[in-house]
Amino acid sequence: MRAEIISIGTELLLGEIIDTNASWLAQQLAAVGVDVFFRTTVGDNAGRIAEVIRLAMSRAEVVITTGGLGPTVDDVTREGIALATGCELVLDENLLAQIRAMFGKWGSPMSDNNVRQAYIPRGATPIENPVGTAPAFIVEQNGSAVFTLPGVPREMKYLTETRVLPWLRERLGGEQIILSKTLRTCALGESLIDAKIADLETSTNPTVGLAAHPGQTDIRITAKADTRAQAEQMIREMETRVRERLGEAIYGEGTEMLEQVVARLLTARNWRVAIVETNTRGAIAERLRHTREGARVIASVGVLDATDVSEANARELADELLKKSGAETALAIVGTMEASEDLYGERTGQTVIAVARERHTLTRAYTIGGTGDLSQNWIAIRALDLLRRELLKKGSLEAKGVTDA
Ligand code: ATP
Repeated sequence: MRAEIISIGTELLLGEIIDTNASWLAQQLAAVGVDVFFRTTVGDNAGRIAEVIRLAMSRAEVVITTGGLGPTVDDVTREGIALATGCELVLDENLLAQIRAMFGKWGSPMSDNNVRQAYIPRGATPIENPVGTAPAFIVEQNGSAVFTLPGVPREMKYLTETRVLPWLRERLGGEQIILSKTLRTCALGESLIDAKIADLETSTNPTVGLAAHPGQTDIRITAKADTRAQAEQMIREMETRVRERLGEAIYGEGTEMLEQVVARLLTARNWRVAIVETNTRGAIAERLRHTREGARVIASVGVLDATDVSEANARELADELLKKSGAETALAIVGTMEASEDLYGERTGQTVIAVARERHTLTRAYTIGGTGDLSQNWIAIRALDLLRRELLKKGSLEAKGVTDA
């Protein structure tokens, strides 16, 4: 079964409010196995509302609208549905009585405007709204059912849970379920990942999709099946294939942050890390300290004179820190404070990162610098990822006789 979601409200188009209704509804529909191929936002204009409803009805068996059911003149969803379905608006005496009763219960006078809310398209099935004044309704026509719900999230959710989802479940017969799993990568560009798993991204069930965030790319695997066990199995198989291609570039799952993974690896080894940062103001140490595990960061130096941004200097700093601190690993981030960072992410500046552990120091140089948010985030991700990869290496485990990975 296909459904479309239509969010109605000029304030949504103006960006004044965020469309949380649509994402919540999309999640509910996915959970019962209903496909959503289109989501539309339209302003408070009856003609344009009618246009998008007609289009949605031509493509989907279920159309859910939210918003524009209020008592004021600019709430024109009712008119839009009437235009789209060719059913004139008629007064529903029962709804009017319910609205009156609601105002009576609140002890506030009902205005004439509220009478507008008792008008619904002829032939529509009214849905009582015990949690607000805007009654909702269903219009069924030519194989499509249009659910018209209020915009207030609490009311919309209540009516979805008590009316829309039961309606859908009844018609769906055996429920299908949709499960998703997210694998997180960092420090590899979205296009590089895409090149490695492009063929998997064409799979239709499970689907594999990419979502890029600053410095990170998520891979989302979504499977649809009759049972949870089947969906889980499909996800597991696809995950194996994705992991074969991307290997260590995948640092975590779900909403896990890179610093959490690093902190966990450190804790598992009972390792402390000593950190020196010249252009990140101790931000990397802070990230590690603030994880649930609370990594044991034993040294963190703020701004140092970093005129010598070279691999040799970073190596020396890391080696020295390792020796002096007594930590099992040391991280040196040596970089420039100055850099220009334009809107398009063009970066200048230089940062060298060194990770030292017993008998082994690794350095990497990057063209990133400066104190802008984007640069700072990139530097932190590069540094944490380098440390993570070092912690995963076999040598780092053998040194302490730890056998987990
Ligand atoms: P009411 O009768 O209570 O006015 P309504 O159906 O007319 O309900 P709207 O007037 O469109 O709903 O919206 C009421 C409020 O609900 C908005 O001011 C906004 O805060 C919230 N809202 C509306 N649409 C959405 C949406 N898509 N996502 C999140 N919040 C929304």
